[in-house]
Amino acid sequence: MKSTHIDPRGMDFEDAFPSLAVLAGRWSGGVRRLEEAQARARAFADRHVRPIALEVDREAGRDPGYLNREFARRAAEEGMFSIVIPKLFGGQGGSLLEMAIMIEELCAACTGLGNVVGADYLGYSGLAAGMNLRLLGDISEEIVAGEKRGEPVMLSAAHTEPQAGSDVEDEEHMPAARVGTTARRTAGGYVLNGQKIFISDGHLATWHMVTAYRDRKDPLRSGLMAMVRTGQKGFSTVSHEDKMGQRACPASLLAFEDCFVPDEQVVTERGAFFERVLFVLGASRVGVAAIGAGCARGAYEKAVEIARTERRDGRFLIDEQWVRQMLADMLANVMTARSMYVTAGLCETRHGMMSLMAHPFLTGLQAVCPASVFRASPFHATLRSKTMSRILSTALTRIDLKRRQRAQGHSCAAKFVATDLAMQNANLALEIAGAAGLAHGAGIEKIFRDAKLLQIYEGTNQINRKHLWDNLIARTTTM
Ligand SMILES: Cc1cc2nc3c(=O)[nH]c(=O)nc-3n(C[C@H](O)[C@H](O)[C@H](O)COP(=O)(O)OP(=O)(O)OC[C@H]3O[C@@H](n4cnc5c(N)ncnc54)[C@H](O)[C@@H]3O)c2cc1C
Repeated sequence: MKSTHIDPRGMDFEDAFPSLAVLAGRWSGGVRRLEEAQARARAFADRHVRPIALEVDREAGRDPGYLNREFARRAAEEGMFSIVIPKLFGGQGGSLLEMAIMIEELCAACTGLGNVVGADYLGYSGLAAGMNLRLLGDISEEIVAGEKRGEPVMLSAAHTEPQAGSDVEDEEHMPAARVGTTARRTAGGYVLNGQKIFISDGHLATWHMVTAYRDRKDPLRSGLMAMVRTGQKGFSTVSHEDKMGQRACPASLLAFEDCFVPDEQVVTERGAFFERVLFVLGASRVGVAAIGAGCARGAYEKAVEIARTERRDGRFLIDEQWVRQMLADMLANVMTARSMYVTAGLCETRHGMMSLMAHPFLTGLQAVCPASVFRASPFHATLRSKTMSRILSTALTRIDLKRRQRAQGHSCAAKFVATDLAMQNANLALEIAGAAGLAHGAGIEKIFRDAKLLQIYEGTNQINRKHLWDNLIARTTTM
């Protein structure tokens, strides 16, 4: 082994996030939390992700029905599922950026296991977007109570259907989408019928944020979001996708057969459906960009490791100029992906759905009132009241179009840039490693398989490019 010690993970917070570190003087509490989040997630990844990543991938390759519940339990024990849950509901009150930094750390160690945590937040952002505060409060408290017991209470987001993928993520194509999951109005709620496919965490989740349509011919205006609980009559997790990468994270086929969902479990109000889908994507694409940055970094770290240990004609690869040039490109790709998700995360927190979570009223209340005191206070019932839900829902609707387009534009750009760079780094790592990189034990071909999936979910990268056009280019270009 080469004696020069290069440990890319040795990069500290200031090396990784110099622009945030600069802010420490003005925003010390916020930056400190981000630094702590990085350290905490790095320690978790070293203990519970890196050591099992290859074995889990191999097991899930042999048996697509494989589920690593032990990993989910450990993540719950370490509070990985309650980072953004407001303190008023017993959570950690963390920011979107804090969650994203943790996700980068996990995904640098294994993108599949990292996405077990990441996809949970996709479900949570769907729940939050509805602003049904009673339901949000109840499920948030259930997640936190689960973490205290070491039993994960996870969420999934079920939007994609056998005949409807990109079209149900795009306002222009939504009216013609061939949706199949129906919601029939009945006394006290809705009856759901249909199927959802490729649902990350479907087999692990306790709650599923499901989209369904009152009128299949008018999906744009008739959609709703509802929470369905595992075990609820008429709901089943049917099968697992046998997918090429991110095998540690199950992708499930979910079925609804006359599944009754009471009004209390409906997340969105009438008419607010697609606007909320866009708010969810604005937040969740920041998370997927962080997954991309993590995956790109994982490839870079593997390439450094290979370059330090492999020789060609008696010389270590790391001593070759061509290898150093490629490593420089790879690190620059990580830096770009990271900068993009940091910018998008800050933008989303200021202008997107997360701006409501960071509302001075809520942050002030959280600062002076610990969760235990809050729960016993009259504010507890007030916050969960229909009036409060309506106030926050209206506040969300009133976010200025230009501001939400700014947030959504930056998050879709971050998503496609970071995930394209993850693919590029996986490719470069394989080129440095040569044939040795193709062996499963080297871990590089796994990163290659993991990276490809990132270009497809949370809107394919073509759809995200379209959304950058819709949100920022069209608005700022005279044609
Ligand atoms: C690993 C994985 C996990 C997933 N997890 C979830 C999940 O948790 N929840 C969930 O709801 N879904 C999930 N999905 C589904 C994912 O969101 C869809 O696969 C995605 O939206 C694409 O839909 P599709 O597969 O039907 O492809 P299609 O929409 O059929 O697209 C096929 C091709 O056409 C291109 N295309 C389509 N429309 C346009 C256009 N207007 N302009 C340019 N190109 C276009 C696409 O970019 C793509 O290249 C997951 C998918 C994967 C692979």
